[in-house]
Parts: sequence; C-alpha cells; structure tokens
Amino acid sequence: MSTVIINNINEIKNIVKEWKNNNYVIALVPTMGALHEGHASLIKRAKETCDKVIVSVFVNPIQFGHNEDFDKYPRTLDNDKKLCDELGADIIFAPTPKEMYGENNKLNNTDLTFVCPPYSLVDCLCGKSRPGHFDGVATVVLKLFNITNADFAFFGQKDAQQLFIIKKMVKDLNLNINIIPCPIVREPDGLALSSRNSYLSREERAWALSISKAIKQIDTLFNQGINDTNILFDSALSVLNKNLEIEYIEFRDFETFEKVKSAKENTLAAIAVKSGKTRLIDNTIL
Ligand code: AMP
Repeated sequence: MSTVIINNINEIKNIVKEWKNNNYVIALVPTMGALHEGHASLIKRAKETCDKVIVSVFVNPIQFGHNEDFDKYPRTLDNDKKLCDELGADIIFAPTPKEMYGENNKLNNTDLTFVCPPYSLVDCLCGKSRPGHFDGVATVVLKLFNITNADFAFFGQKDAQQLFIIKKMVKDLNLNINIIPCPIVREPDGLALSSRNSYLSREERAWALSISKAIKQIDTLFNQGINDTNILFDSALSVLNKNLEIEYIEFRDFETFEKVKSAKENTLAAIAVKSGKTRLIDNTIL
C-alpha cells in the first residue's frame, strides 16, 4: 500500500479514530520534509515499534524568525512521498499553515495559544540566536500530538535541545505519548545529515566537515579521561575550520540541561556554526 497524503485535520482525525477503535498503536514522526536518511531512520524505527506510522511534513512558520529561511526552506513533497512509500509509512500529514493556524500564521502571531517551555531551556544554545523558535516548535508539536493521537513520537538526537524540550513538555503537561530518541545519521564522511545541507556550496560543505571532526575529537578526548570542558572546548575550537562562524560550543547535563564544567556520562556536547549563510548544528552525548 502506498502512503496517503492528507492535508486536512478533520480527515486525519477520522482515520486515527478508526485506528484507535482497532487498537492499533500509532507512531508520529514530525518533520519539515525534504526527507533524507536521517528522517528515514526515524520512520524505520517507527515501523518497527508501531502498527501505523504518520509522518508529518510541515514547514512550521511560527518557529522561523523574520530573517530566517522559511521561504527558501526546501519543499520536496513528491520525493518525500516516494521515500515514505518505500519505507511503508501509512500517512503523510502535510497541512498548509492556514489549516494549522488560520490566516495569522507567522512567528509574531498574537492570536494563538502558545506553549512556552521554561526560559532556562530556551534562552541558551540555539534559542539564544532564535528567539521564539522553541515556543513555535513546542506549540506545533503539541498540536501534532493532539491531531494524531499518537502513542509514540520519534525525534532525532541531532536536534538535542528540541528533544530535551519536547520530553520536558510531555512530562510537565502529562501528555500520554512516549518520546523515542533516535541517533544522529551521518554522511560517510561524517557530516550530520540535514535538509539545510542542500544550501551548502562545495567549499562551504568542505568547511562544515570539521564540525563532525570537532564532535569526534570531544568524544575521543572524553574517552581518554579528559573531563575539563575548557580543555574539550579549546580542542574542539582548534579543529573547527577557520572559515566557519562559530555560534556556540557548549556542554550541558542532558538530565538537567545545566552547564557543566566537568563532563561526565550523559553530558551533551553541542556545536552550532554558520558555514557561509547556512546554520548547522551537531552534537554528541558523552
Ligand atoms: P526536521 O525535518 O529537520 O525538522 O527534522 C525532523 C526530525 O528528524 C527531527 O526529530 C530531527 O532531529 C530528525 N533528524 C534530522 N536530521 C537527522 C539526522 N541526521 N539524524 C537523525 N535524525 C535527524
């Protein structure tokens, strides 16, 4: 059976109601489309775990700043459908911004109930340069949870801060859904897969390769017994290509999200840079 594309909220709610009547276990894989092997790994995991798989493809306007890439973000629904067909996903839920939010569907929407994750989680790392971003993410994810009534949702560790915030939302708001984290999928040369990699020129891509090298360097030093995050920071910095604009290199406890001076097991080491105009992130959990 090929994947069915549904754009309408009531339509998908009716299908889900039938599935629930049959006691099917439902998976949701939230994405912004331009699907790649990273997304595929989430969908495969969802197929293994659940009876029915919904992949949402939605470039969410309320999580993009005015100076960001909402308009040029790659939209490749035909290819996304082919991949979902191959992987056996049941539904692609691809609503329009209007279907999700009505007419007023931009970041500065003042006519919408937002989910506001704690300030301490959004005022750091990616949230620092992207004010409002994680409010927009948490809001759309809660809407998708409610629309799909999913039992399991699959998120990549690639977006570690997002994963942490979603888990916190599920706990704080007593949501009946299980969050399954999935490992980062990389190109053979180490670059973490991202829909935004398509923006990179050949040169910018070559510079970007040093991000995963820096992440690997942190892993290697930590495994050799080096815990001092100043040392880990300096060594990552020395590996990063000088043409990259570094936004942050940070070490956070992945239980509490507090900054750590001494890395230990379950410390998140995260990097964000710009290669040319393209913002890229990568991380490891030690
Ligand atoms: P996006 O379409 O970029 O919003 O990503 C949708 C989901 O796919 C998120 O949970 C991401 O963390 C996950 N994802 C994106 N890239 C990768 C990757 N390289 N490896 C694993 N998961 C990924």
